[in-house]
Amino acid sequence: MPETLLSDANQRLEKALRYVTMDPDVAARLHYPKASLIVSIPVRMDNGTLRVFQGYRVRYDDSRGPTKGGVRYHPSVTLDEVQSLAFWMTFKCAVLNLPFGGAKGGITLNPKELSKFELERLTRGYVDAIADFIGPDIDIPAPDVYTNAMVMGWMMDQYSIIRRQITPAVVTGKPVTMGGSLGRETATAMGAFFVMQTAMQRLGQNPANTTVAVQGFGNAGSIIAELLSKAGYRVVAVSDSKGGVYAKKGLDIPSIRRFKEASRGLKAVYCEGSVCNIVEHDVITNEELLELDVDVLVPAALENQITKDNADRIRARYIFEVANGPVTSDADEILNRKGIQVFPDILTNAGGVTVSYFEWVQNRSGSYWPLEKVNRKLEQSMNAETDHIWAIAQELSVDLRTAAYIHALNRLGEAISARGTREFYLT
Ligand code: NAD
Repeated sequence: MPETLLSDANQRLEKALRYVTMDPDVAARLHYPKASLIVSIPVRMDNGTLRVFQGYRVRYDDSRGPTKGGVRYHPSVTLDEVQSLAFWMTFKCAVLNLPFGGAKGGITLNPKELSKFELERLTRGYVDAIADFIGPDIDIPAPDVYTNAMVMGWMMDQYSIIRRQITPAVVTGKPVTMGGSLGRETATAMGAFFVMQTAMQRLGQNPANTTVAVQGFGNAGSIIAELLSKAGYRVVAVSDSKGGVYAKKGLDIPSIRRFKEASRGLKAVYCEGSVCNIVEHDVITNEELLELDVDVLVPAALENQITKDNADRIRARYIFEVANGPVTSDADEILNRKGIQVFPDILTNAGGVTVSYFEWVQNRSGSYWPLEKVNRKLEQSMNAETDHIWAIAQELSVDLRTAAYIHALNRLGEAISARGTREFYLT
């Protein structure tokens, strides 16, 4: 495990900086977050007791525009994690050429232990605590692990109460009835799907002969599994926090998704119901899933899943990082040596923030787009940036992650330099 996640993230930056001509002062700024806020959120629980939760919001860099990034509710949320996620958002927005900087937020808790009312009070308390740090022209939250459209709706409502004006553009990933964009919920997976289709064409890999394992069966993981399955790929394994299932012949992903949604729990993924009786399957652990002999591995859960401890045992030929930071930098080296191609998070999962940008544009213009337009524009953006990164990788003989960082650094460097030197004068 790296010393800190942020120091690990910075190693990717260091590597890419070797290929970019950049003022060292500009490069130095990118190693540190612009501002980090730590808040305490007192919440009245349903039983009348008071619990105080710890929350964070980090704005990493706003040279290219207001900062943008999701909010995560998870027991392992720390300031280091939130800073690293904000770092990745900075580079991701630059890769997709969005007029945004990077940010991230989180609250340290297990949301499964709270009632819906408690979660709503917690969310409103979080917005009260960070209200001066966010805004449509400052910093715009969105969903991430264990937050969703409902939570974003509460955030927008609370912010509007505080400001005494309806402010839909303060948050993206909202319910459509509150100004959310069509296609936002599927955007992360859809974006990853476009990257994968482009890559598979270039690699001459036919979907029908391609086996896939997906780790994480939430918003991003379950939707990409279904998109791939519908496009003819053989999805042989999926998992969630409690474990996974494997079927050599391929799993019935639409049924598993339906079951999971209906049960509102995770049982369907272990096939306790009738769904998986259709296909014989084995119950596997998350570790086993990562090490399966498949063509494509899609980590879509949390960071630090492929490290120097298990990288040698990875047998997939291609890894598409739908999660943020699932591969550590020391694991990168091992995977590169083994010839495993990694399609990096800052490209692969950028569909979410791209459609978040579309949502923000729609909120500000008051004009709403049909789903076809959202998906068409998403496809254009994802394909164009995939091609760009592919070309950089070929030209400089670097791996795709380094190519993506170089691509982002060029855009970030220009934006930072264009702002002038005010902050560098000695007094
Ligand atoms: P989610 O809360 O909808 O789903 C998370 C899934 O991961 C759940 O199925 C959960 O059971 C599973 N999980 C948790 N711990 C696990 C573990 N140790 N092993 C295996 N599975 C585990 O979250 P999401 O929005 O789908 O986000 C998943 C990843 O995608 C995160 O890294 C997130 O940052 C990234 N991402 C999400 C979006 C988005 O728009 N939602 C955008 C970009 C990146």
